[in-house]
Amino acid sequence: MEGDQNVKLPILTSCCPAWVKFFEHQFPEMKDIPSTARSPQQMFGSIAKTYFAEKIGVKRENLVVVSIMPCLAKKYESSRPEFSVNGNPDVDFALSTRELAHLINLGNIDFKSLPNEDFDAPMGESTGAGVIFGTTGGVIEAAVRTAYEVFTGKPLPRLDFEELRGMEGLRKATIDFNGTPINIGIAHGLGNARKLLEDIQAGNSEFHAIEIMSCPGGCIGGGGQPYHHGDAEILKKRQRAIYSEDKNKTLRKSHENPYITKLYEEFLGAPMSEKAHHLLHTKYFDRS
Ligand code: SF4
Repeated sequence: MEGDQNVKLPILTSCCPAWVKFFEHQFPEMKDIPSTARSPQQMFGSIAKTYFAEKIGVKRENLVVVSIMPCLAKKYESSRPEFSVNGNPDVDFALSTRELAHLINLGNIDFKSLPNEDFDAPMGESTGAGVIFGTTGGVIEAAVRTAYEVFTGKPLPRLDFEELRGMEGLRKATIDFNGTPINIGIAHGLGNARKLLEDIQAGNSEFHAIEIMSCPGGCIGGGGQPYHHGDAEILKKRQRAIYSEDKNKTLRKSHENPYITKLYEEFLGAPMSEKAHHLLHTKYFDRS
């Protein structure tokens, strides 16, 4: 492949904080392999407390960021010291979807009688690529939609990568990047992740990129979600809902989100600029 020959492969996803903590404890010698990209929660928080705060003329200390997450590990993640500036966290509170449901009930809020509203601009626009992050295989599919176009300079011939989808705990697929085969591995559940990491350690990994999510099914089975008690049918229904939401979105590739383009133009400069690196990337620690 052309490009930076110093990049270590396979690259591993880094959006799941429970997975990040797992490799920091269990495979610290491999902490330079995962992507340095912060999780969506932490990217949102750092951009909200810089770009958005500047836009609305509020100091970061006076802005409170509350994230609603499928996940209990996100509470811990938001408290990691590297995600704060002078003691002020990028994300002040991480609530789970189950906690939000409790609050809605406590407040006697009847959603059916509420008028529809748009999300706030500029941080409310999302794409189908963002939606599918919620299911196993979705993170890497979202990455493929963008990486293909950046790498080949050509528009994607298709948007749905059925070969990356499914519910088996360990999956693999090869995607043709216009003549370059890219081998992709997918694992959900940390036992499955361990198997892939042991292969990498032994020098037997066939993959260029690997997606790992800790929870069964990915975030649709997250510890903060409405209980599913391991019922595979419930997870499959949630997965179907996510792919149908993606299909119905006008924008389905992250790099086509006009607000993301504008964010780079107005604030970050270019992908991997110093500012982007500082606000959107992170590092990992040996916790053995
Ligand atoms: S897979 Fe589970 S632990 Fe990981 S981000 Fe999603 S909900 Fe959180």
